Amino acid sequence: MSSFDYDVIVCGVGTAGQTAAAFAAKRGARVLAVDIASGIGGNTGRSTGQMSAAGTRLQKERDIHDTPDLHYDDIMRISHGTADATMVRLAVDNAADTMHWLIDNELELLPEMPVIFKGHEPYQIARTYWGPDRGGKPLQKVLGTQFMKAVESGGVTLMLETEVEDLVQEADGRVGGVVLKAKDGEQKTVSAPNVLLSMGGFASNSDLFPKYSNGYPLFKGGPSFSSHPHANGRGHELGEQAGGYVRYQDYFLPTFGRVKDPADPSYVSFVTRVTTVSLQGPRPLWEIFVNWEGKRFVSEDSDSPDEKELGLKTIPDLTFWAIYDQRAREESICIFTDMTHEEADPLFNSHESFKQADTLENLAAAMGVNEAGLAETVGRYNGFVEQGKDDDFGRSHLPAPISKGPYYGIKHHGLSITSFAGLAVNENLELIREDGSAIPGLYGAGECLGLGATSGKAFCGGMALMPAMTFGRLLGDKIWQW
Ligand SMILES: Cc1cc2nc3c(=O)[nH]c(=O)nc-3n(C[C@H](O)[C@H](O)[C@H](O)COP(=O)(O)OP(=O)(O)OC[C@H]3O[C@@H](n4cnc5c(N)ncnc54)[C@H](O)[C@@H]3O)c2cc1C
Repeated sequence: MSSFDYDVIVCGVGTAGQTAAAFAAKRGARVLAVDIASGIGGNTGRSTGQMSAAGTRLQKERDIHDTPDLHYDDIMRISHGTADATMVRLAVDNAADTMHWLIDNELELLPEMPVIFKGHEPYQIARTYWGPDRGGKPLQKVLGTQFMKAVESGGVTLMLETEVEDLVQEADGRVGGVVLKAKDGEQKTVSAPNVLLSMGGFASNSDLFPKYSNGYPLFKGGPSFSSHPHANGRGHELGEQAGGYVRYQDYFLPTFGRVKDPADPSYVSFVTRVTTVSLQGPRPLWEIFVNWEGKRFVSEDSDSPDEKELGLKTIPDLTFWAIYDQRAREESICIFTDMTHEEADPLFNSHESFKQADTLENLAAAMGVNEAGLAETVGRYNGFVEQGKDDDFGRSHLPAPISKGPYYGIKHHGLSITSFAGLAVNENLELIREDGSAIPGLYGAGECLGLGATSGKAFCGGMALMPAMTFGRLLGDKIWQW
């Protein structure tokens, strides 16, 4: 009989934690699953549920030839070779089995799946899958059902509203338990030979975000498009305290171009259609985008999300202004997602992100953008319109000069809903120290490892959820011993 209280302690019952616990319990482990929230699921149900997997039954049924090697190559192409080779191999080689497990457990998918999704830099092969109702909910239905079955069968003990406060570490570095704190403040220490950090990322923690993102600030999404409030990086900190280290801080990438919400400026949302392709369909851009110096920084109508995200990263505060004139207002497809120009008018010069002026100089002053820089940029851009060629960024849609007042500026920011930096692990998903040695007993999965591990310095579609579940499955099904 083991002297440990449990065989496995799962710290955080989100995408990775639910999967790991369900598989470990199926193999007979005594699992303790702890979450600070009042319910299970973490970000799973909040997400858009996009997963990528190669070599699946669904692909074969549609004569789509795909293999883990091709998936691997595509991730390395999109991430410019920056994704972690070991982590990506582990994820893509085992993704199809995870997908089949989900399908066998009645995952609901949209009938056209898999597809090539273009919201992120697209894969070359249709290997992205998601379900109805924004995708995350049907996925959580499967994970939640499997997890709760394990709870009901007695394999998993679930403790909600309980914080993982600390790790218990022996003098030799081995982790053998955790310190828990209940809602009423009561502390408890429990032991296990396997402890999983599956506490997600730090995309809800504005204070910690710059530390793990090379100084870049956090612009959060609104209630319907943001990380849950407990994504505060505690798992990262606990891993570091145990001797592990956080990598990929420099991989940070924002999602391009959101505006402070007109109703609640504490978060940014999809107010404008500056991403060329949006849910409402394509929109040829008439605006130019400028930084605080009044300089353009990217081809505004580039089809490459990656190019735009990397362009935005050249601006330290991830903030830019979209500039247009009266002619664009009259002749282009409306820039707003769900307002007319007339409905948006009251926002101008009353909301910090919406400025209007009769001259470009006055617009620059109102925005706080360098006046001379903006004048020079607009003059240069108008010259490109006249010659039909953008010598600076290769923009192809050059419909009209920006020359007819009044002029408009809308402030945009880079949104973050995920965390690129994460704890370093080896191929057994054990946390490692900077010298490469493993910290026995301590494992990581999901966003604790950082999106950078499986997606590199880019957004590779479906490479957060699928690896989180796959790594959880591998730990529960094979890796852990007790
Ligand atoms: C809006 C949105 C859309 C997304 N869309 C996609 C997508 O389409 N495809 C994709 O691949 N990825 C997507 N993602 C990312 C993906 O959802 C996450 O990376 C993934 O869900 C993270 O799983 P996880 O298990 O690491 O953490 P989570 O699911 O975040 O779970 C972590 C759990 O740990 C708990 N916890 C935190 N701290 C403590 C503590 N101290 N003590 C106890 N418990 C704690 C939390 O309460 C939470 O339940 C999206 C994310 C968001 C926010």
